[in-house]
Amino acid sequence: MMGNWSLGDYFKKEQISWFWEFLTSELGLPKDKLYVTIFAGDKKNNLPPDVDSIEIWKKLGLPENRIFKYGPEKNWWSRAGVPDNMPAGEPGGPDSEVFYEFTQVTHDKKFGEKCHPNCDCGRFMEIGNCVFMQYKKAPSGDFQELPAMNVDFGGGLERILAALNDDPDVFLTSVFKKIIEEIEINIFSKFKYTDKNVQYSFRILADHIKAASFLLFSGITPSNKAQGYVLRRLLRKSVMQVYKWGDQKSKISTLINPVIDIYKNSYPEIEKLIDMKEIIDNETDGFMITLKKALDKWHKLLSSKSSVPGPVGTELVGVGPSYGPITPEEVFEFITTYGLPLDIIVNDLNWTGDFKKVEKLLNEHKTKSRAYSVGMFKGGLADHAVQTIKYHTATHLLHQALFDVLGSDVRQEGSNITVERLRFDFYSIKKLEENDLRKIEEIINQKIKESLPVEFKIVPKDEALKIGARSFFREKYPEMVKVYFVGSYSKEFCGGPHVKNTSEIGSLKIYKFEKIGSNLYRIYAK
Ligand SMILES: [Zn+2]
Ligand SMILES: [Zn+2]
Repeated sequence: MMGNWSLGDYFKKEQISWFWEFLTSELGLPKDKLYVTIFAGDKKNNLPPDVDSIEIWKKLGLPENRIFKYGPEKNWWSRAGVPDNMPAGEPGGPDSEVFYEFTQVTHDKKFGEKCHPNCDCGRFMEIGNCVFMQYKKAPSGDFQELPAMNVDFGGGLERILAALNDDPDVFLTSVFKKIIEEIEINIFSKFKYTDKNVQYSFRILADHIKAASFLLFSGITPSNKAQGYVLRRLLRKSVMQVYKWGDQKSKISTLINPVIDIYKNSYPEIEKLIDMKEIIDNETDGFMITLKKALDKWHKLLSSKSSVPGPVGTELVGVGPSYGPITPEEVFEFITTYGLPLDIIVNDLNWTGDFKKVEKLLNEHKTKSRAYSVGMFKGGLADHAVQTIKYHTATHLLHQALFDVLGSDVRQEGSNITVERLRFDFYSIKKLEENDLRKIEEIINQKIKESLPVEFKIVPKDEALKIGARSFFREKYPEMVKVYFVGSYSKEFCGGPHVKNTSEIGSLKIYKFEKIGSNLYRIYAK
């Protein structure tokens, strides 16, 4: 420890000095446009103001009139929020935030008499913060200093760039601008980014296509589950913007070009995205058709609504237009029939009804259909379980055989098994040919004939990866994993169930294959 610094202020000094040097020397942001906020203390919880930080900022040369103090709702961090909400045992602490002032933005008095860093008028933008994990809440409700303190730093890349440009619009920074320009030229060609009523859609499209690109780049494809569903929603929302302002034939997949341009120096691998345009096209072309149908129905529904009530009694027998706005029940019906997301109905079609009610109906619906499919599984599939277990075990042989025949870049993209057949999707750089299929089939049937035992071991994940067990790269695996061995031929991360010996599978015939995207193939086998 140095001089009269306490442990508490020593760790803050290191962090704040580094941050200041980064902003002012490395990036060269003008010092007179930077403001700082610090924790003003919380009397109710006996938490003192963060005077350490004030002193540190002052020593670094920041004048006191650019250091603003705020209470726990602004300058305190814990997982549970303000100190009052923290459960016993939870760590938390004050934070110090740095703001950039855009002097060209005039303060708007509707946000308060005087402007200040946390004002919402847009003159100030937070560009980074340091959270000092300094305290722990005791069961008594008192706050005690943590024996080991640490700092969480958070900085916004786009925001810091906006500050460097001295322009608050993050969509005009170098990590977005090319995408916006491409939208202006090729998607919303009748409009300019500066057109106020279209600007919001420009931004949605630029943001969503970038997010979608990185999901694709990480190996996610559109689906109805988990990450795949997030990707699907991003693309659907993008298609909605094209429907509103663009030529409906224009392809948002062209926006992959500026995304690659922006990121190829930092992520050279991103050029692979060029091969994934087809995946975007398949998804967005399909949704454009669905969307047109759905919107047509939506407008019919709207026009069936009258603002004038019909004669008394007609509403009971459903004669004539129904009276009043579209109800949550009707929106629910609409969503389940036409697959239009609620978000589009609220934000793009401007439906102003009770969306919480619709969410509730949708959740009930989801629970019901889940219960239904579980019932199906018990009633229908259980009788055929032996067959599906055989097919599943065969996918292990198929996965390894693909690897042997097509090369080490093969990776599983998904599989689907019914009692009738197995379906297996995979990625391969080598083009799949008919004679490859025959070779693959031969290997599998050979391994079936060899009557290989199917066994599993539970091992640490690292060890499983070290011995080269095939994993489904999209899955997040726990520390200990189950690895299935088919003789010494195949090793694969799997939860089961499987046959005990490959001889039980019988034989396997690949009866169909198709290309479902660039470097993406689908195989059907019986
Ligand atoms: Zn203001
Ligand atoms: Zn398995």
